[in-house]
Formats: sequence, C-alpha cells, structure tokens
Amino acid sequence: MSTIPKIVILGAGYGGILTAQRLQKELNYNEADVTLVNRHDYHYFTTHLHMPAAGTDSIDHSRVSISRLIDEFKIDLVKSNVQEIRLSDKKVVLQDGTLSYDYLIIALGGEPESFGIPGLSDYAMTIRSINSVRMIRQHIEYQFAMFKADESRTDRLNFVVGGAGFSGVEFVAELADRIPKLCKEYDVDPNMVNVYNIEAAPTVLPGFDPDLVEYAMEVLRKKGVQFKIGTAIKECTPSGVVLATGEEIKSATVVWTGGIRGNRLVEAAGFETARGRVKVDEYLRAPGHERVFIIGDNSLMFNPEGRPYPPTAQIAMQQGVVCAQNVVAAIRGKELKKFIFSHKGTVASLGKGEAIASAFGKKYTGWVAAQLKKVVDLRYLLTIGGIPLVLRKGRFF
Ligand SMILES: Cc1cc2nc3c(=O)[nH]c(=O)nc-3n(C[C@H](O)[C@H](O)[C@H](O)COP(=O)(O)OP(=O)(O)OC[C@H]3O[C@@H](n4cnc5c(N)ncnc54)[C@H](O)[C@@H]3O)c2cc1C
Repeated sequence: MSTIPKIVILGAGYGGILTAQRLQKELNYNEADVTLVNRHDYHYFTTHLHMPAAGTDSIDHSRVSISRLIDEFKIDLVKSNVQEIRLSDKKVVLQDGTLSYDYLIIALGGEPESFGIPGLSDYAMTIRSINSVRMIRQHIEYQFAMFKADESRTDRLNFVVGGAGFSGVEFVAELADRIPKLCKEYDVDPNMVNVYNIEAAPTVLPGFDPDLVEYAMEVLRKKGVQFKIGTAIKECTPSGVVLATGEEIKSATVVWTGGIRGNRLVEAAGFETARGRVKVDEYLRAPGHERVFIIGDNSLMFNPEGRPYPPTAQIAMQQGVVCAQNVVAAIRGKELKKFIFSHKGTVASLGKGEAIASAFGKKYTGWVAAQLKKVVDLRYLLTIGGIPLVLRKGRFF
C-alpha cells in the first residue's frame, strides 16, 4: 500500500486553481498524490460572467481549459460532480465513483441564496456558471424576437434584476449597454424597454464609498436603468415580481443576483455552517478536522473588527495560496502559516468605458477606473496562465 499522502481538491474555481497550481510548484516528486475534481473541464472567470450573460462579450473570454492551467503529470484532473463529502471515512463520493483522501481542500464555491422569497428559485435566473449565463443571454434575445411576434406582450421588454450588489450592478450596466443594439437588431422602439434594478437594502453597492455609489447610480440612470432601492422583492411569479410595496412588475425576465451562500454539500457533510459557510481557523482548517481545509465562498473568516469578509475572488485566491502552503507544511510536519487577508482594493464595472474603484487609498471613476478593472483582470490571467493566457483571453480594448 502506498504511503504517499493523497490530497484531493474539490472545485477548480479561484480558490481551487490557485491551490492546485501552488501545490504543483511546492511539492517534491512523489511527495503526494494530488487530484483536482471539477464538474467541468474548464475554469471560468465568475467575475466576468455579467458580460456574456448580457451578451456584450463572448463566452470564450470567460473560460479556459483546466489542462492549460495545471501540469497533468503532477495533478490528476477528474471531471465529475461531487455528490457527498464523507468525513467519517475520508471519502468523497462522485457521480461516477469515490475518492479517498488524507488531505481534503473544499473549494466548491457558492450558490444563489433566495432568502426564502417565494418563487425565486423557480422563476428567476442566476448568474452562476457558463451554462446559466448562456441561458440568460439566449433568453434575453428570445424576448425581443417573441415581442415582434406579439407586440401586446410588453412584459417581454421589461427586464428585472434583483439585487444591486456587485454582480447586480455590473450585470445591469452591461444589459443597459446591450439593449440599444438589440432594439436596432429587432426593430424595437428603445422607449418601450425597461430595465429595473431592485434592491432591499437602503443603498446600491453596500460597502462602497457613498460618493462612488452616487457616481455609479448616475451613470446607470443615464444608461436607462430604473432603480427601486430599499424595496424588497416579496414574490417572484411566472409573470414577473411583486414588491413589498404591493407594486407588481410584469416581466418575462427576472435575474436574481441578490444573495450568495456556501455550497449545500458542505452543510450536508455535517460541518457547522452559517448560510453554508464554515468558520475556519486561522490556518484555513475546518474546526475539528486538522486535514480538511475550506477556502473561498465556502469559508467564513472575520476581519480584525470582527466583521465577516465578503466572499470574493480576491480572498479565495489568497486563501488558495496559503492553503497549499499549509497542506505542504502539514505533510512535512512543519509549522502552518496564518492566513492574513491583504485587501488590494475594489473595482466595479459600469459597462463600456465606465467603472468605479477604490484602491491605493484613493477613489477612481470613469475611464481610469475602467482601466483598473482591465488591469485586475489581466493580472489574474497572468497569475494563472502567464503571458500566453493574457494574449489568448485578455480584453485589452
Ligand atoms: C456575477 C459575479 C460577479 C463577481 N464579481 C466579482 C469581482 O469583480 N471581484 C471579486 O473579487 N469577486 C467577484 N465575485 C465573487 C467571486 O466570483 C467568488 O467569490 C469566487 O468565485 C469564489 O471562489 P471559489 O473558489 O470559492 O468558488 P468558484 O470560483 O465559484 O469555484 C467553484 C468551482 O467548483 C465547481 N463546483 C461546484 N460544485 C461542484 C460539484 N458539486 N462538483 C464538482 N465541481 C463543483 C464549480 O464548477 C467551480 O468551478 C463575483 C461573483 C459573481 C457571481
């Protein structure tokens, strides 16, 4: 029987890919067997998905084959769906087999959170994966085509985006950019189209600087977005949404971006969770499980003021690196490293040539912020795939 420890990484998103790449760099020959499990054979850039969802960019700019990112002589890639994490006998059940592990890294990402709002999970679409994005894009275009077949169905020209956090605002901005093109293509009067962004919180982009929020709302209003802020969606129905105010918006397209939770498989494994996220220790380990590491949207960590870090790609990537270092340290019997989040700033895109950013202790808007967003994206491509990936997938203009 082999005495080489088996490391299994679940999920090849931001956290999982960074962990895998770091492990392949740090581990010596035959020091461990590493397996990376992901339901697709590609890695996708969730932070780009609002663009293909609205149809302003191609799907292919948002994904890359995993085999281009890892060394398959060092890491076994298994394309499969994880169905169960069995902590008691250190096994992971896949849709087509099982894997046993000595060290487990859970990086399965989040799931949309509907907060129990009736009808949301049945009738609203979510920006979550390449598949979901393809559906939204086709659905939007189909509404224009169908409207031309029956112009009494004005609900087909009403687009509701629930949630005005990061992903809601970025998507609504792209959608507002796409609408004029669709109107032209399908001979639809742009004045008939309504794009609503509905948010229960008292502000859009909670957590952002108020001046930047003001700027963002101004840009989006000019693009035609209608905000309903401090207004909860009470129900989603087959014909639209009903708001807490009693108002009903008839719409054939509801996209929900209002909440994210950890993966349900993590809850089902028996960990104590808060909305599917596990409070990990400072070394990124699950409580009571020294050889189980949880990172990214599945983990919960607190800042020095005791507030939870929001789930972002930025923290998932940094955790991926430290997680790999800690797994290697554990295998070698060395001391583990504490995870300390280094916040590099935040950028939210507002469509073509527009964005807001807070970085390096300063605020940026407009073209400069939009360039910062591009730099962040290019830097990520450089980190995971070097210059070849930047040249293949980078969006320079
Ligand atoms: C539209 C949108 C825009 C965003 N914009 C930003 C941004 O600008 N900046 C930022 O920092 N963050 C942003 N985020 C948040 C960021 O994308 C997440 O925090 C980040 O992706 C979390 O990384 P992760 O590794 O935990 O999970 P993910 O990147 O989601 O990766 C999880 C992986 O696990 C796979 N997987 C899931 N379930 C299974 C299963 N059962 N079996 C096998 N494989 C499975 C998935 O296919 C995926 O590859 C955005 C999120 C969204 C939805």
